[in-house]
Amino acid sequence: MKKHNFSAGPCILPQEVFEKASAAVLDFNNSGLSILEISHRSEAFVSVIEEARALILELLGLQNKGYQALFLHGGASMQFLMVAYNLLDKKAAYTNTGTWSSKAIKEAKLFGEVVEVASSKDKNFNYIPKEYSIPTDADYFHCTSNNTIYGTQMKSFPKTEVPLVCDMSSDILSRTMDFSQFDLIYAGAQKNMGPAGVTLAVVKEDILGKVKRQIPSMMNYQVHIDKDSMFNTPSVFSIYTSLLNLQWLKNLGGIAGIEDKNNKKAELLYAEIDRNPLFKGFAEKEDRSIMNPTFNLAEGADKATFDKLWKEANINGINGHRSVGGYRASMYNAMPIESVQVLVDVMQHFEKIS
Ligand code: PMP
Repeated sequence: MKKHNFSAGPCILPQEVFEKASAAVLDFNNSGLSILEISHRSEAFVSVIEEARALILELLGLQNKGYQALFLHGGASMQFLMVAYNLLDKKAAYTNTGTWSSKAIKEAKLFGEVVEVASSKDKNFNYIPKEYSIPTDADYFHCTSNNTIYGTQMKSFPKTEVPLVCDMSSDILSRTMDFSQFDLIYAGAQKNMGPAGVTLAVVKEDILGKVKRQIPSMMNYQVHIDKDSMFNTPSVFSIYTSLLNLQWLKNLGGIAGIEDKNNKKAELLYAEIDRNPLFKGFAEKEDRSIMNPTFNLAEGADKATFDKLWKEANINGINGHRSVGGYRASMYNAMPIESVQVLVDVMQHFEKIS
């Protein structure tokens, strides 16, 4: 029986995407070939990657605005250094809102001065810092829109003259906003975009070419742009499956179509976390993530009983990250509200029998 999968990533994707992707493994579009054996230079795949690149820009509302969508390797972790390689000439500004921001900062320091303009480390990253200023002579400002581990999310972004770079790995394509405020967005695919193995970078082309250093080809956004995101063999299967997922999202009405559903799921679970005396939320209320609610058991609540109950209810993947403990119920785009209701029912049953 299919589980209610609250895993933080890789994570749930729509069932129809799993079905279409598995059909393509056996026979891709009646070609007599598996998606796993076709050339990335074949007409069939070139049209897949072209459609996926165009659809990303369409969903983000960034067509004809000077942006390029790239499907790269190396995960969001590679972007931590690729961003700095391409953009950091002298100095960059970063906010530190959790484990992934800290890792991005560590990599950027290899390339120049990093000013940490704000941090929420003082409270184990349970909030989003809001009052800070960004030096106007910074080469760029970097932030993490959604902190997957701590369950916090930026609800707004600073207005700044310097290029705005954002790690959107865990909330890309989940909520509407003006994406043209960003100059570079990146995301590992394995949450809202597709399976692991491909990384999205959406780059405003005019921010490139400003650093003095030599950039190795594989690290160079301009090289990937010039080669239509085919400088080397791309992750064919992951990109195809991402395209299926992007098509699914478009058919639902795009990001606006999913946003309301995501908000309803989050409201349902957070209401129970706040109501039920056996649980307490981890993140500050105003900064709570719509994608990754984090919560702990209240003192005296019996962990073994709760764990037994959710496992019996066919729930998967709600153990919290080791740096926060407790629980994290990731509710990406493909998670149906019915699965969230199953978790809420378990929490209520736990209260009743405790
Ligand atoms: N940034 C964020 C916000 C993440 O959630 C993750 C992975 N969970 C990463 C970066 C690292 O991604 P990857 O494993 O693709 O390198």
